[in-house]
Amino acid sequence: TVHDYQARPDLLKDKVILITGAGDGIGRQAALSFAEHGATVILLGRTVAKLEAVYDEIEQAGGATPAIIPLDLKGASKQNYQDMAATIKEQFGRLDGLLHNAGILSILSPFTHIEEDDFRDSLQVNVTGPMLMTQALLPVMQLAPQASLVFTSSGVGRNGRAYWGSYSVSKFATEGMAQVIADEYDTTTVRTNVINPGATRTSMRSKAYPAEDPKQLKTPLDLMPTYLYLMGDDSTKDNNICFDAQ
Ligand code: NDP
Repeated sequence: TVHDYQARPDLLKDKVILITGAGDGIGRQAALSFAEHGATVILLGRTVAKLEAVYDEIEQAGGATPAIIPLDLKGASKQNYQDMAATIKEQFGRLDGLLHNAGILSILSPFTHIEEDDFRDSLQVNVTGPMLMTQALLPVMQLAPQASLVFTSSGVGRNGRAYWGSYSVSKFATEGMAQVIADEYDTTTVRTNVINPGATRTSMRSKAYPAEDPKQLKTPLDLMPTYLYLMGDDSTKDNNICFDAQ
């Protein structure tokens, strides 16, 4: 299975891959792993100090020099995404991979307590931002020989669950968006797939389950076979599939 996938050391050589939420958690590990396998990574996130730490770690490990894009998906405009796409096109000539990983949990509460502001912010960061970013970047991805677009969902993006509120709704929307895009493009240009990471040792998980022992959970590193598989050319025939990373 894809969980046992063993990525060649040079799997992502010559690939330019953008990771959102690259400063922490699963996105941070994905950036490190993609760089370790030869990719030039573009680190996007809202906390610049965290992105710089990942940048330094990649350089110290001998990886290709990354790029940093400081951007808060909550406030970013369509123009911000268009400008970002133009810069990537100018600097790299194409984009081979886009991992939509950034996300917010929102407030867990009974449905009747969902606050309009919280709902709006969750949809903005988890859905509208990625939508505008994808619109802007698809033409740049089509300049790559084989491009991979990956969205991040959740178990509550496939089955609604009590008290998961805005987050659950936003992950259903994410899956819907991925399916729409997957159906519009041919795998020879851009393939679109979804990853459900499953319970993973990050700050988001401990916010949702404060009483849980994090040591019992898989780490972001444990998930990397699936992430590497989807970014490399071994997955070029896969489209419109939801992968469980565990
Ligand atoms: P973390 O909270 O550890 O990391 C999320 C990253 O996204 C952070 O780097 C964060 O930046 C960034 N981010 C959040 N909001 C914004 C924003 N407005 N603009 C830009 N960047 C932002 O989460 P995980 O690593 O756990 O989660 C990664 C993905 O996996 C998410 O989409 C999550 O929904 C999904 N997931 C996680 C599971 C788990 O068990 N951990 C289970 C199922 C799904 P900053 O560092 O500045 O806060």
